[in-house]
Amino acid sequence: VCAYEPNSIVSDACVSYSSLDSINAALSQQLQAVTLHTDFFSHYRLNLYNKKCPFWTDESGTCGNIACAVNTIENEEDIPLSWRAEELGKLQGPKAEHPGKKLQKERAPQKPLQGQLGEDVGESCVVEYDDECDERDYCVPEDERATSKGDYVSLTDNPERFTGYSGPSSQQVWGAIYRENCFSKPAKNQESTSMPPSFGPKNPFQAQAANDLFSVMKEGSMQQGVKDAIANGLSMQPIDQLEFDQECVEKRVFHRVVSGMHASISTHLCYDFLNQTTGEWGPNAECFKSRVLDHPERISNLYFNYALLLRAVGKINKSLKDYTFCSADPSQNARTKMLVVALSDTVKSSGEIFDESIMFQSPDAIGLKEDFKQRFRNISRVMDCVGCDKCRLWGKLQTNGYGTALKILFEFDEKNPRNNPPLRRTELVALMNTLGKVSNSLSALQYFRSQIEESSSTP
Ligand code: FAD
Repeated sequence: VCAYEPNSIVSDACVSYSSLDSINAALSQQLQAVTLHTDFFSHYRLNLYNKKCPFWTDESGTCGNIACAVNTIENEEDIPLSWRAEELGKLQGPKAEHPGKKLQKERAPQKPLQGQLGEDVGESCVVEYDDECDERDYCVPEDERATSKGDYVSLTDNPERFTGYSGPSSQQVWGAIYRENCFSKPAKNQESTSMPPSFGPKNPFQAQAANDLFSVMKEGSMQQGVKDAIANGLSMQPIDQLEFDQECVEKRVFHRVVSGMHASISTHLCYDFLNQTTGEWGPNAECFKSRVLDHPERISNLYFNYALLLRAVGKINKSLKDYTFCSADPSQNARTKMLVVALSDTVKSSGEIFDESIMFQSPDAIGLKEDFKQRFRNISRVMDCVGCDKCRLWGKLQTNGYGTALKILFEFDEKNPRNNPPLRRTELVALMNTLGKVSNSLSALQYFRSQIEESSSTP
């Protein structure tokens, strides 16, 4: 019953908000040092433009292009060009070309072991195998079915913040993502090509269906005791009490991951918000209140994701110590390694905060796990339907980050790392940056709380 005991720490996700806040206070600077101040972790390689949305087309009458997002903002044409969604959503900074296989082979010190983290396996070696898919992956590798190898994008030049992307296009993507949580549909063992219906305005029935789905998520699925505990701000819900009506823990976890990611994206856009009347950037408490703070379950899911990601980073502690960063600059490699190992050590020393071993234990575990994996892969595919470059960048990165965390949680053996599946460079970068994003969101939550309290106590 730790949901009612704010300070209890047990070996599942039942950790109080305040415990996770304390961990975050200790960790956030280390995370920033890794994600903002190392070349390895501040650049991400992805295929941003060459993959078509596999689920719907612009011609289908739905809104999958940026012009649509522009039109949905009230009086968009009245605001200066540089503040419009189209401009805000663009990527900034130089994009380095992918080095290509030949160059990578020349750079690689020796033949790598399938891009595995491990002794004497370095960055360039891992890059070479980026496009190889492993059946244990929870995400579609960035290069799958793409003709080109993608580009490196600077994450520091393109912070996650308000872009103005909204309306039917973003609604359709979120709708499609949440529909993957409907595990009652028969499991698909292949890539879904007909996954999301159109939720655009030209399809009122499906728009209604999407809205219903959101209301069910908001209202329908929580046990009263847990609801009360969350409403009282005591702690997050223990993972082993996650039986909702007919839902098993795995399905509930799936929903929490997605909803927590959504809450973090909302937090970032509200924290770094553009007032399109004045042109000033800054935190928007009203935006945060309506999207996150007024929904205790979204906050709970944010903390849940933090616990889950921490567990993943702690679980690869030993592998990180063996990892070789092999850029041309040895002192930079040593620094990157020192920072990332120190970060993982801090996580490890925070104790047991998430016990994934209770999941996938039922008699139908194998099928359920496959289903879970397929559905998560579909979410990573739907990111190609996001009609705003910057949102797509962060959407893809974070999906990959959670996919990597799930892979580590459910496919890695901490005690016997030799048989672990390969972990690509992009996965490692995505994992650390996704943890960094949730960490920022928890800090922003504290900031907004105090702002809102302050303004309500002022007469
Ligand atoms: P939305 O956030 O679109 O939510 C739609 C519905 O989902 C809500 O009505 C609610 O019922 C439900 N919902 C909302 N939050 C949650 C939650 N946490 N858990 C469960 N249900 C929830 N915009 C930016 O400005 N910057 C970005 O970087 C950015 N990145 C994006 C990345 C992706 C992958 C997507 C799909 C969209 C992104 N957007 C971004 C757009 C942004 O997320 C919103 O869609 C947009 O601001 C419109 O918001 P909204 O008020 O219509 O609600």
